[in-house]
Amino acid sequence: MNVYEYLLNYNIKPSVQRIAIMDYLLKHETHPCIDEIYMALCKEIPTLSKTTVYNTLKLFVEHGAAKMLTIDERNACFDGNTSLHAHFLCKACGKIYDLPLLQEDKAETDMLNEKGFVLEETHHYYKGTCPKCTKKAN
Ligand SMILES: [Zn+2]
Ligand SMILES: [Zn+2]
Repeated sequence: MNVYEYLLNYNIKPSVQRIAIMDYLLKHETHPCIDEIYMALCKEIPTLSKTTVYNTLKLFVEHGAAKMLTIDERNACFDGNTSLHAHFLCKACGKIYDLPLLQEDKAETDMLNEKGFVLEETHHYYKGTCPKCTKKAN
């Protein structure tokens, strides 16, 4: 995917830093947090600061190019996948899994739209233990 074009599509002026951050987000479907993105990119872009990463992500979210997840209340993380999907946070390993949205949940958002509600955000969060960690415990 051409990240430059991707940002333009969302009316975001593509600067070197913005391209690098969006590129990282699109290539890492692990829902990285600000620290993770900063640590990954600061070697490549020595002028990058955590504040820039934060402000850039905020801009992406405002323009709909990324989503912010608050499933882990201690640490906001970011998703380059803006399609409607649910998340499962494993409390043991901290990994956030993408889950397809159930048909009933989709029906619910359709129903809201039909009633004239303008939906801007939906958060489907599940928390517990992932299959890998459950196996380890047994
Ligand atoms: Zn786990
Ligand atoms: Zn996701």
